[in-house]
Amino acid sequence: MGDDNIDCDLGTRPGVLLFDLDETLCDYAAARRRRLESAFRIALRDVPAPQWPDLAPLIDRSIAIAPHGDAHFPDLLRAAGCDDPAAIDEARTWFRRHRLHSLALFPDAKPMFAALRATDRGARFGIITNGPADIQREKVAMLGLLPLVETVVISGEVGVAKPAPGIFMLALDRLCAPAADAIYLGDAPAIDIAGAHAAGIRAVWMNRTGVAWPRTLPRPVAEVTSLAAFARLIAALPDRT
Ligand SMILES: [Mg+2]
Repeated sequence: MGDDNIDCDLGTRPGVLLFDLDETLCDYAAARRRRLESAFRIALRDVPAPQWPDLAPLIDRSIAIAPHGDAHFPDLLRAAGCDDPAAIDEARTWFRRHRLHSLALFPDAKPMFAALRATDRGARFGIITNGPADIQREKVAMLGLLPLVETVVISGEVGVAKPAPGIFMLALDRLCAPAADAIYLGDAPAIDIAGAHAAGIRAVWMNRTGVAWPRTLPRPVAEVTSLAAFARLIAALPDRT
């Protein structure tokens, strides 16, 4: 499958469009790297430039050790030649206080919502995201998504997480829509696509990097490489009348 590729199972245009948040609507992976880089620059502020470690592999190691945490900063940074406990403490404090540092929507996110509304004025939108209630709420608000969608379902708030079908059903309940009248867009095959599939919702895969589909999982009904392509795909579907 490639960009804009439509499978024969795609059906008619749904009344409800559901979206994953991280790596689908917003570029969390890039923001996490920038946040780590900023923190490490604070820790390294008194280390002479020629002695600085390469930051890219340091960031890779940090994410591999703990995708979201900072408890490992002292060991990681000491091993990289930074032995200044005060600077490392300051880096950790900054890191915790700036958890949404530089997080942004993908540039085609807001244009996609506008295009989807133009395609179908009656369409309703929802976000289904896994994560802690406070962080995901803050994220959705900061990104300006609240006026664009009818509901936001956060696993940390509702006590059920993707891929469990229950969280998808909860979103459908809130929008008073049957699964057959929804399409879900997400980037993680085992969490997003398998979960939506189990809930009976047509799932479209956001595959920005063009990787191969994991053979063991049920296939999405289509895949796209951008949100603009998703809006085109929905516009191209036959009306449900
Ligand atoms: Mg995601």
